[in-house]
Amino acid sequence: MTDCLFCQIVAGEIPATVVYSDDELLAFRDINPRTAVHVLVIPREHHSNIAEVAAAEAALVGHMVIAAKVIAAGEVGEASAYRLVFNTGAGAGQTVFHAHLHLLAGADLGAMS
Ligand code: AMP
Ligand code: ZN
Repeated sequence: MTDCLFCQIVAGEIPATVVYSDDELLAFRDINPRTAVHVLVIPREHHSNIAEVAAAEAALVGHMVIAAKVIAAGEVGEASAYRLVFNTGAGAGQTVFHAHLHLLAGADLGAMS
């Protein structure tokens, strides 16, 4: 049994509200949403951050971004804006060391700066 939280979610050992799934990816709602829509898109395979995903399998990064677009369209509509964030490293706020893409959307989404 792995001690990686997101591997445990992939394995079905910890519950999550799944909004998208395919052969390579899983996406589920963040347990502590920061915006009206806050979904995490993760590779099923364990990589500790997105740079490791890119180094091991660059196409998987594109797959994650395309999946996020599909999920955003379902959540807030084709024309709506959304934000994608990869926190990479503890100093940037990464707390779960299984690569994940934050999809943030909804009416309360403000400017970054
Ligand atoms: P990061 O800070 O970029 O590593 O993001 C990790 C995210 O995982 C945070 O936004 C947490 O709220 C979220 N999170 C932690 N545990 C769970 C869980 N069991 N189910 C869903 N999201 C989680
Ligand atoms: Zn993992």
